[in-house]
Amino acid sequence: MRKTQLFFIAGVLLGLTELTAQPKPPGFTRADTLRGALSPERTCYDLTYYHLDVKVDPANRSVRGSNAIYFTVMTRFAKMQIDLFKNMEIERIVLDDGAPVPFRREFNAVFVNFRKMLEKGSSHHIRIYYSGNPQVAKNPPWDGGFTWTKDSSGNPWVVVTCQGTGASLWWPNKDHQADKPDSMLISITVPRGLMDISNGRLRATTELPGGWTQYDWFVSYPINNYNVTVNVGKFAHFSDSCGSSPALTLDYYVLPQNLEQAKKTFEQVKPMMAAFEKYFGTYPFYRDGYKLIESPHNGMEHQSAVAYGNRWVGGYRGYAPSTVGLKFDFIIIHESAHEWWGNGVTSKDIADMWIHESFGAYSEALYVEDQWGYEEALKYINGKKPNVRNTEPIIGIYNVQHQGSGDMYDKGQLVLNTLRSVIDNDALWFSILKGLMDKFRYTTITAEDVIGFVNEKTGKDYNYFFDQYLKTTKVPQL
Ligand SMILES: [Zn+2]
Repeated sequence: MRKTQLFFIAGVLLGLTELTAQPKPPGFTRADTLRGALSPERTCYDLTYYHLDVKVDPANRSVRGSNAIYFTVMTRFAKMQIDLFKNMEIERIVLDDGAPVPFRREFNAVFVNFRKMLEKGSSHHIRIYYSGNPQVAKNPPWDGGFTWTKDSSGNPWVVVTCQGTGASLWWPNKDHQADKPDSMLISITVPRGLMDISNGRLRATTELPGGWTQYDWFVSYPINNYNVTVNVGKFAHFSDSCGSSPALTLDYYVLPQNLEQAKKTFEQVKPMMAAFEKYFGTYPFYRDGYKLIESPHNGMEHQSAVAYGNRWVGGYRGYAPSTVGLKFDFIIIHESAHEWWGNGVTSKDIADMWIHESFGAYSEALYVEDQWGYEEALKYINGKKPNVRNTEPIIGIYNVQHQGSGDMYDKGQLVLNTLRSVIDNDALWFSILKGLMDKFRYTTITAEDVIGFVNEKTGKDYNYFFDQYLKTTKVPQL
């Protein structure tokens, strides 16, 4: 869920040693390259597990604790890059729970220097102890940061949104989409009386001295950094399930005054799950279940813990460019589609964010087709036409943390529908959608992977098609 304008900051060449082999496109800074490139200091290790263990204190808007980064050495090294925004203080970093190791910070990158080489194939972990006041989101969910607010009863209500800006705004990690841990433990400590809902399943609740409660959430699948979330507040909880053997658990956390309304609105979840499982295959995070959590912002696709803030109305906060668009809750459908497109299958580089958003937006149309038929789906898709801007290509610039045009949503949806018409074989088209998910589930991919798969399945070369609609703003010559 991102429709930001990118800020092109005039670059200053610093001439520093790392990444000298990576050419830097004009208009981008050294900081952009540190954030967006797969440097040797990043590719030398493969993430296996994170244990994030932090106290979130609404009283002083702070985060304090540690993250343990478990990894396997891919190429022998003595220096690795992790990421943490420079306003956050690092207290110390230790290797395998030994003595502190030296580190150097540059913009939002942290270079950890070990006193010995770590050998290829060996496994280690570093633990970063840190604290600070993470940046506040000015306009969530579109710009990254924490939202520290209160519900109408005066209880603290704290959430984070960080897609694009980076999870390293609040916790240290390898902040690049190409690498995910295989699983993760998220331990969030909050003032007693409040609850934290994070991703995955609640494993333990522990009362701590001094009036604090720790919630341990375990994520048993790979997870994107930007999906890792906290939702601190006073919530009412209700649950349901769908599917069979075993059933998929559905858990809902909303402000107590919205409980009855939520029970009605969230009835849309079961038919949506059935539709998406029909088109894309099994919900990707079955063991972890599915959750919706009321948020003070519009919504965000946090894996297995989707943030919901659509004010309990149809469309997008009561608006839709077609009549059928008002018949369903846009945020539930769109953000949940990301469980497949974005969370189940993730783009390696944010330049290919269209894999999340074009397929995510097209999923809305498929939901309409499933519920109300193909003609209504066409009306829904064509209602998006006036939104197409064609000012920038849909695919962004690789290696500098640059996402393409916001056309990745509405134009992307139109493009995929056009491709379905060009292929002109629905059985094949739907086998491609499901096949993409089967082949690439839990991995990170590029545009080339998607296009190659379409070409392989159709036996035709559709590069011209994707080039035309994703890499240029020019109107095609038909
Ligand atoms: Zn989205």
